[in-house]
Amino acid sequence: MLDKTGTVTQGKPAVTDIAVLQPGALPADDLLRIAAAVEALSEHPLASAIVAEQERRELPRSSASNFRSESGMGASATVDGRRVIVGNSAMLELHSIDTRPADEYLGRTASRGQTAVLVAIDGTLVGAVALADPVRASSAAAVARLRGAGLDVVLLTGDRRAVAEAISREAGIARVLAEVLPAGKVTAIADLQRGGHVVAMVGDGINDAPALAQADVGIAMGGGTGVAIEAADAVLMREDLNAAADVIELSRRTMRIIRQNLFWAFAYNVIAIPIAAGVLYPAAGLLLSPVLASAAMALSSVTVVGNSLRLRKS
Ligand code: ADP
Ligand code: MG
Repeated sequence: MLDKTGTVTQGKPAVTDIAVLQPGALPADDLLRIAAAVEALSEHPLASAIVAEQERRELPRSSASNFRSESGMGASATVDGRRVIVGNSAMLELHSIDTRPADEYLGRTASRGQTAVLVAIDGTLVGAVALADPVRASSAAAVARLRGAGLDVVLLTGDRRAVAEAISREAGIARVLAEVLPAGKVTAIADLQRGGHVVAMVGDGINDAPALAQADVGIAMGGGTGVAIEAADAVLMREDLNAAADVIELSRRTMRIIRQNLFWAFAYNVIAIPIAAGVLYPAAGLLLSPVLASAAMALSSVTVVGNSLRLRKS
């Protein structure tokens, strides 16, 4: 299971477009300024990108109060005496706001793999901000390696299905679980586990921590949030999905070496201990001298260590 934002993608979204969906409602810069006032209080990567764009355009900063965040959906706050809601369709629907005026815009941005954050003021949808979060250059090759290793790769995200599908096409991922709320990520993994699958989850965000803990193997991106790193079994030291493929290949090689080592450690003893104890003495007059026996004992340790050292050469 691969989380989309920050794992398959760079996790550094940037604003590509601002659309006023209610003609003449307000200038695009005002829409951005009002959305940024709410997002300044949110910790979501999309929120940081919207604030960065407001700063880039040197728009004045408005202050917001009564901030509320809905995990996996969006946020709301009061700006200049007006109730402002930013988030996805589910967020607006939660507040009984009609999202139909955004349908066409959502479809158009999603087909390019971009996420649109809807902006509603005082209960009416007024506009949207489109953000692009490019797929990491290394992701497609890493996914191919994971599939080559016999794994089923699944993209897991809270984002819209169409956005997730555009990203998965680019990364070469065949299965997509989209529009999953943070708690749903845990359930999705538990469902697979009940179906007899062993699940490894790669993620980076605060929202991913419970899923990383639920998975049989939780793998955190090194640049991820502290709580994701805490919850994970393995931490990738570079921002590259290839490191996750390395983890899986290295652990498989390690298990193979452990089995070989067990075999050799037992094989030496199974053969040499009975000889040392004299099983061949009555028939062949053969005994193992204590000097040779201790040499064999040491040799078995050397074999195991030497065999293990082969792991360094890969
Ligand atoms: P992901 O699984 O891609 O990391 P999240 O679960 O964090 O996504 O969020 C799911 C969706 O909720 C986002 O794609 C976005 O549409 C919306 N969302 C969440 N928080 C915010 C926010 N602060 N501002 C705008 N939209 C948000
Ligand atoms: Mg994420």
